[in-house]
Amino acid sequence: MTVGEKIIQSETGLQVPAFPVIPFIEGDGIGPEIWQASKKVFEAAVEKAYGDKRKVVWTEVLAGGKAFDTTGSWLPDETMDTIREYLVAIKGPLTTPIGGGIRSLNVALRQTLDLYVCQRPVRYFNGVPSPLKHPEKTDMVIFRENTEDCYAGIEFEAQSEEANRLIEILQTQFGVNKIRFPETSAIGVKPVSIEGSQRLIRSAIEYALENNRTSVTLVHKGNIMKFTEGGFKKWGYALAEEEFGDKVFTWNQYDAEKATNGRAAADALYQKAVDEGKLIIKDRIADIFLQEILMNPENYDVIATLNLNGDYISDALAAQVGGIGIAPGANINPDTGHAIFEATHGTAPEFAGLDELNPSSLLLSGAMMFDYLGWNEVSASIVAGIEKTIANKTVTRDFYYLMDDEKAQKVSCSKFADLVVE
Ligand code: NAD
Repeated sequence: MTVGEKIIQSETGLQVPAFPVIPFIEGDGIGPEIWQASKKVFEAAVEKAYGDKRKVVWTEVLAGGKAFDTTGSWLPDETMDTIREYLVAIKGPLTTPIGGGIRSLNVALRQTLDLYVCQRPVRYFNGVPSPLKHPEKTDMVIFRENTEDCYAGIEFEAQSEEANRLIEILQTQFGVNKIRFPETSAIGVKPVSIEGSQRLIRSAIEYALENNRTSVTLVHKGNIMKFTEGGFKKWGYALAEEEFGDKVFTWNQYDAEKATNGRAAADALYQKAVDEGKLIIKDRIADIFLQEILMNPENYDVIATLNLNGDYISDALAAQVGGIGIAPGANINPDTGHAIFEATHGTAPEFAGLDELNPSSLLLSGAMMFDYLGWNEVSASIVAGIEKTIANKTVTRDFYYLMDDEKAQKVSCSKFADLVVE
């Protein structure tokens, strides 16, 4: 048996040994079958790239139904301790327990390790059925803030003592008279901070610069929620100009030039920035953005947005390029190095045990993980394997029934993985 070593975060970044220990959570529902299929592909891709010089030492940690059945806890402390210690983990989907004081296991994992970046790349794979005429124009990477906003979990039920008290404080101490039905309102709180926004936006800009992307779009609803979502935009522009200086050109700078010297001068400055290869920092209001990604997806590249917007946007974008069966994701804390890579779909319980659904979401999450480790040869061959398998029209049922192509062949989850390996 290979003895593994820990991945560590040093001042110069992640230090990855040749035999890193990586904890995995199989997940619930279809989790175990997509994990088995994916693991096979990961091991074949590592072997193809490095022979016996490098190898992942997988170690199972428990969460969700399997954890509850064996330990009585949905998310045992040991699981958190192991992931905290080994830094990088990968997981299948987890069921959301009803009752029992846990809102969501995923949210608990993200909050405990302060995984503030939810990174979701969205690109098209040739041959995947899509509702768009030109799905290949969609190529974006979403950076969704993962720890704040309405998802902080500060909510009080309608007519509860807490909701009533909070409403009374708002009315008597803050002069709030805009709650339409104060006696029957539930109340939620939406915290959005300068630090929380800027650390997320900083990661998005750094990613865009490192990967030669052309723009970062701040997506917000600041026209209505001026201090929270409007703050996100304002602090984002300020950070871009203060920390990234002449590597970026912002719409803020464009507007300032326009106000002083007119539109032609501002256009010329913008064009100069584009010609010099500067990263363009712009913003869009969330509602128009949802229209834009359908109609002009080629105008968008890296996206930085708040938690709730990011949730909607990632599913809408995933649908444009084939749906959640092929949508990978990662939750990362770039400061500590902690990262959990995960399929973005749920447990699809009605398909559990049938070996029918698409493992691509977890496979591509694995490819992101190998990129994160710097094992780029591995991720490239996973992606190439998926590209070829889909181009050969051998697909799982989710794609098959949308393809309307008599040459398409429906294969099982495990068979799909075998074909990717081939
Ligand atoms: P779901 O994503 O599990 O399934 C919705 C539908 O999407 C399925 O019926 C199936 O048609 C399709 N689908 C899902 N995974 C697919 C795949 N790999 N390939 C092809 N098609 C796929 O969403 P749900 O039914 O709303 O949620 C079920 C459970 O999963 C709930 O307990 C929910 O809380 C949980 N959940 C977990 C995560 C997570 O762990 N990250 C995310 C979402 C939902």
